[in-house]
Order: sequence, then structure tokens, then C-alpha cells
Amino acid sequence: MIEFEEAVRRIDVRTRALPVTTMELQRASGFRLAENVRSPFPLPRFDASAVDGYAIRHTDAQCATRKSPITFAVAGTQAAARSGRTTLRSGIAVRILTGAAIPSGCDAVIMQEHVTKTGNAIVISGSIAKGDNIRYAGAEFARGKLLVRKGALLTPPVIAMLATVGRKSVRVHRKPAVALVVSGSELCAPGSKLHHGEIYDSNSAGIIAALTAIGIPCRLTKRVGDNRAQLQQAVRAALRTADVVITSGGVSVGDFDYVKEVYRNLGVKEIFWRVAMKPGKPNYFGVKGRKMVFGVPGNPVAALLSFHLLIRPALEKLSGSVDPPRLWIPAHISRSIRKKEGRVEFLRGIAGAGKGGKLIAVPASGQESHMMGGLAKANCIICFPREKTEIKRGESVAIMLLFWM
Ligand code: AMP
Ligand code: MG
Repeated sequence: MIEFEEAVRRIDVRTRALPVTTMELQRASGFRLAENVRSPFPLPRFDASAVDGYAIRHTDAQCATRKSPITFAVAGTQAAARSGRTTLRSGIAVRILTGAAIPSGCDAVIMQEHVTKTGNAIVISGSIAKGDNIRYAGAEFARGKLLVRKGALLTPPVIAMLATVGRKSVRVHRKPAVALVVSGSELCAPGSKLHHGEIYDSNSAGIIAALTAIGIPCRLTKRVGDNRAQLQQAVRAALRTADVVITSGGVSVGDFDYVKEVYRNLGVKEIFWRVAMKPGKPNYFGVKGRKMVFGVPGNPVAALLSFHLLIRPALEKLSGSVDPPRLWIPAHISRSIRKKEGRVEFLRGIAGAGKGGKLIAVPASGQESHMMGGLAKANCIICFPREKTEIKRGESVAIMLLFWM
């Protein structure tokens, strides 16, 4: 049996980002960048107005007050995308619209709400400062500045930013293809009729949903009974189809737990089996060439938490992520908790603000590893460290916020 951190490390050191392809920007949402993107020009590209108003020379309005306002004649309009390079004479204002280039000679824009309009003139009754309401060229990024780093997730704002600098396509990492094999003779498909002793297979639905939520396709899913030959056939097909194979169930020490044997038969090299964590002790991890193989226990809570804590980071790294590990943050526990020494326990919790804005973690009811209710309503995982046997109410614990989507 190995420690949880060691399990994470052994997976991590064997995970390399998948090959790179070029993808149309419009289709790249959810992929990871495989290149550093620099700005090909300053951003903003040119000095522009931030408001609808009037461009002036600020010194012309220096003495304007409510008591002695100054009148400006309005000479022409500068609309967005108009390249007319109006040049301003002293004492004149130019009508300007948001996003339009600042006419040369102007160094400030006054909002239209702050002037009084009389015919073809405006009256300004207060001074304005140089640069007011102007977005200066290069104020956000100079030309050549790093805009988005390699490994970044292509979120909507990142995609918008790449479009801002004119990108039509990007280099991204391929995403891992995953195959799932769920084993257990007691399992039936939801929707079918159950006989005594049978249960619905919830891990297929849960794991496929967890994959879908992070934009990773599940290429193949197969449910088999506790039968060595059937299991071996399914896992062989899974290894042929996918970069990552996940099996659920049959990895413990029961009489019909064939998963490890099947992996061995198919040439998968075991990297670890059994982790000092609860839930999830029987977790298995192996490799075959560059393919990664995870055997999660069948208990539904263990299966999904193992996915979240062990498999998901690997899937993200395969997809090109260089993000640091997910943060554990300190919170106060709402009630005393106890356990035996020797295994780290991951409790399902509900984190929220307590008195004075303190972060409080409430252990959810139903902490057994077959009880899905707690995980279904949890928004965090509470870490109960291996060596500890008790954490008293109000003491600090480390929690990890739980996002499935
Ligand atoms: P196993 O890991 O095969 O020993 O299964 C542990 C427990 O999880 C047993 O109570 C199984 O009935 C249950 N279980 C296994 N696979 C699933 C599944 N796919 N969906 C729901 N429960 C499961
Ligand atoms: Mg089983």
C-alpha cells in the first residue's frame, strides 16, 4: 500500500501531453494551447475614445467652470472605423463615438452627458484632464508581449483574446480518448427491471458524465459480469481504442475480482495497487507503453472521488495542462470528526461562509463509500490527514473545492 501523495506522484511522472495539432479557433473551446501566443501589435491598436462624446485639447477647457463655461464649435464627427484623420484646431471640438480613433491634436474626450449642446456648439462647464476617456495604444499589451501561455485552457475569454489579435487557428494538444469498462455481475442498466440482489450501474453514468463535463470523449463503454474471459475481451478492446482505460469494480480482494489478473494477462505493467486513502483503497494504476490504465473501486463514491483526485489531473495533463495541482485551502470544521490512524480520509463537505466571513466546512451526512447522497450535495472535499485521529470542532482543515464542470 502506498500513500495518496505517492500515488499522485507516480501517475504524474508518467503523464506526458499528447501530440499537437492545428485547430480552427472557433472549434478550440476546451482544448489546451500548445504554443505561447504573443501580441502581433499593441493593444489597443490605436488611441481611441472610451465614450461617446467630444474630443478636445484639454488646455482649451482649462479655465472652464460652472460660472464661466466655454463654448466649442463642433467640427465634424469621428465614428468608429472612420479613418478620417481629422486634425483639431484650437478651441474646436470633434464629435467622437466610442472606439473611434482620437483625431490628432486632441488629448482628451469629454462625455456627451457632461456637456450642454446648443446647435452646432457645445458648452463645457468644468475643466478636464489630459487623457480623460482615452484608451491609449499599447496600454494593455505592448507589441510582442505574451498574451496567453502554453498550456492555457481555451476558455471563451481566451478565445476572444486570440480573435482580438487576429488568430484564425491555434496549435492545441489532442485530447485523450478514454474507454470505460464497468464490471460486476450484480449490475444492470438503468431502465431495466431489477431482480433481487441486483443494482443499477451508476458508475457508467457518473464517470461518463464526469468525462463529458471536462470535454473528454468516452470512446467505448462496456459493462461485463464478474467473468474473467468477458472482462479480458472488454479490456483488450478498450486498450486498442483509447489512450486511457478506466475500469470500475473488481479490483479488490474478492473471489471474483479479476481486474488485476486481466491487466497482467494483457501486458499492462502495474505501477501501484492499493492506496492509503478512504474511500478508494483498492485503486490500481498501470501503464502499457504510453497508455494509462486506472482501476477504480466499484463503490460509487470511491469511483467518482478517485476519478476526481487521481484520474482527472492525468487527463488534464495529457490534454496539455501545466496548471499547478488543485489548491487545498484552510477552513474551519463545523463539528468534531474522528477516524482511525493510517489512511487519509476524504470527507464530502459543504463549504460556506460562517460568522465574520470565516470559511466553514460542514461534513455532509452519509460518509460511507456507498452513500452517494453526500457526494451529490458536496461542494468540497475535506482532507482528514493520515496520522490524525480527531479534529475538533472549529479547528482548521484543508479543503479542496469540488467542481465537476
Ligand atoms: P467492487 O469494487 O466490485 O468490489 O464493488 C464494490 C461495491 O460497489 C459493491 O457493493 C458493488 O455492488 C458496488 N458497485 C460496483 N460497481 C458498481 C457500479 N458500476 N455501480 C454501482 N455500484 C457498483
Ligand atoms: Mg464487484
